[in-house]
Amino acid sequence: MNHKSIQLGDLTLTPLLDGYFRLDGGAMFGVVPKPLWEKRASADERNRISLASRPLLVRGTQLMLIDAGIGNKMDARSVDIYAIDRRRNLTHDLADCGLSVTDVEIALASHLHFDHVGGFTTRLDSGDIVPAFPNARYVVRSDEWEDATHPHERNRASYLQDDFVPLKPAGLLDLFDGDREIMPGVRVRWTGGHARSHQVVMIESGGRTAVFTADMIPTAAHIDEPWIMGYDLYPMETLAFKRTFIRDAIEHEYLIFFEHDPAIAAGYIREKDRRKYVEPVLSDS
Ligand SMILES: [Zn+2]
Repeated sequence: MNHKSIQLGDLTLTPLLDGYFRLDGGAMFGVVPKPLWEKRASADERNRISLASRPLLVRGTQLMLIDAGIGNKMDARSVDIYAIDRRRNLTHDLADCGLSVTDVEIALASHLHFDHVGGFTTRLDSGDIVPAFPNARYVVRSDEWEDATHPHERNRASYLQDDFVPLKPAGLLDLFDGDREIMPGVRVRWTGGHARSHQVVMIESGGRTAVFTADMIPTAAHIDEPWIMGYDLYPMETLAFKRTFIRDAIEHEYLIFFEHDPAIAAGYIREKDRRKYVEPVLSDS
C-alpha cells in the first residue's frame, strides 16, 4: 500500500504510485560509467533500470496533485519498450485515500514529458481522449506549454500531444509565467536543465520545507552533482541547480520527494565524511 502521508504544518503530503517503468540505465546517468551506476541501480538484459512514477498529493486549502504518472494511453509497443507496469496505479492510490479523479482541484505539472503528465488525460472505451480530472484547473508554465506544443527532433519522443492538448478546448488550462505561489504553502521554482522550463515544487509550512524535485533529482541515486541524466537538454543548468540546491537541502533538512525512485518515495539528503546519502522517510518496503 502506498498511501502513507506526512504532515508538514498545515499541509498533508502523500506520494502516490502510478506504477513502474524502465529506462536505459546509460541515459539515466549521463556521463557516469556503468561500473559506477550499476552499483546503485541494477540493469536488466536490455540495459534498463527500474523506475517508479510517484505523483504527489498535497492536501491544503485545495486538493492538489503534482504530476500524474504515465497514465493509460500508451500503445503496446511503448509498454514493451518502457516495461510499463501499472497494475498498481493512481486510481488505486487515490481510492486508498478515499478520493477519486473528480476530487482533484489543481493538477500542477513539473513539465509536460509523458512520464509526468500522461495521466493528465485518459482514453475512454470509445477511444476519445478527455481530461482525467474533470473538476481540476491544470496549471502549466506557459513557456513549457509553448515548447511541448512545438517539439523538435530531440524532445519529440517526450512530448506526446494527447497528454495535454485536450486540456485547452476543455477550458481547464491555466498558463502562468515566472515563479509563483500556486496554493498557500506551495510554489514553483524554475530550474531549466532537464527542459528549458522544467520546475521543481517548493512546499513550505510549519517552518519546514519539502521539495518535489521531479527530473532534477529523479532518484536517490542522483544526489551527486555530476549524476545528471543524458536526457537533459541543458545539463550545465542542471549542474548549477544541483550545486546550490543540494547544499541547501542538507543544511535546511529539506524533505525530498523522489518522483522516479523505485523504492524511496521521500527522504532527507545527509552527508557524512564528505559522502552524500539519503535517509529514507517513506519507502515501499
Ligand atoms: Zn521523468
